[in-house]
Amino acid sequence: MSHDPDCIFCKIIKGEIPCFKLYEDERTLSFMDINPVNPGHALIIPKFHTPNFFEIPLDWLADTMTTTQKIARAVQKTLEPHGLNILQANGPGAAQSVFHLHMHVVPRGEDDGVTMNWGIRPGNMDEIGALSERIRANIA
Ligand code: AMP
Ligand code: ZN
Repeated sequence: MSHDPDCIFCKIIKGEIPCFKLYEDERTLSFMDINPVNPGHALIIPKFHTPNFFEIPLDWLADTMTTTQKIARAVQKTLEPHGLNILQANGPGAAQSVFHLHMHVVPRGEDDGVTMNWGIRPGNMDEIGALSERIRANIA
């Protein structure tokens, strides 16, 4: 599997930096976003360093999407938000800040004011950790 030693998500895959892990299998990993746009914001990544949507081999993309559906269902069941966006950014103009492909699962409220390029706001780690446990319990 391809890794980039300078990539923060590759470091999470290798266990070099911690995460609030939701799910892991041979080819994918899901964990909580530590700057959540809304509570329950989760990320899904392939265990394969590829910067964006354009380059990822299709079989890895399929596995990443399979895990994305699994996590989206668990977040939906846990929080029952008004809506839920599944998003992915390519390039700085699209507000991509980590250049290892990742899917965002973002619970939404009707009037939450979230725009497409949201700002980074550090989250409360106790709240994120508690939510990660609740979501993990709903992964089927
Ligand atoms: P993007 O802006 O689409 O590239 O999204 C990158 C996301 O990764 C942002 O929402 C960050 O909050 C999130 N992020 C960055 N570093 C970490 C980390 N160490 N653990 C969890 N999420 C992170
Ligand atoms: Zn990487």
